[in-house]
Amino acid sequence: MKSQRRDFLKSGSLALVSIALVSRTGSAPAQAKGAPHVDEKDPTATALGYRQDATKVDKAKYANYKPDQQCANCVQFKGKPGDAWAACGIFPGKEVSSKGWCSAWQKKA
Ligand code: SF4
Repeated sequence: MKSQRRDFLKSGSLALVSIALVSRTGSAPAQAKGAPHVDEKDPTATALGYRQDATKVDKAKYANYKPDQQCANCVQFKGKPGDAWAACGIFPGKEVSSKGWCSAWQKKA
């Protein structure tokens, strides 16, 4: 019983440290600015048809693509307005172009 209590206190302390770090930095450490750019030849990028320049999307293959769709207005894009590159929820640890697109695009609310 004592051991369970000690484990609970230890895990609670770790959770508090994590919360403190996130609130100090304003974001999770994995969302660091200046991360490498997603390579269009990356297997996930290829599978999703990601292009750094949305005008180069294969329109025959991705008929759902519309010219007004870009990473900048996708719900997964973590950048601020005007950011050329930013993190994307689909590509952890990497950045995508604000002018890019992939088939996981969903309109930002
Ligand atoms: Fe761009 Fe959205 Fe695809 Fe990420 S999920 S690469 S932000 S279109």
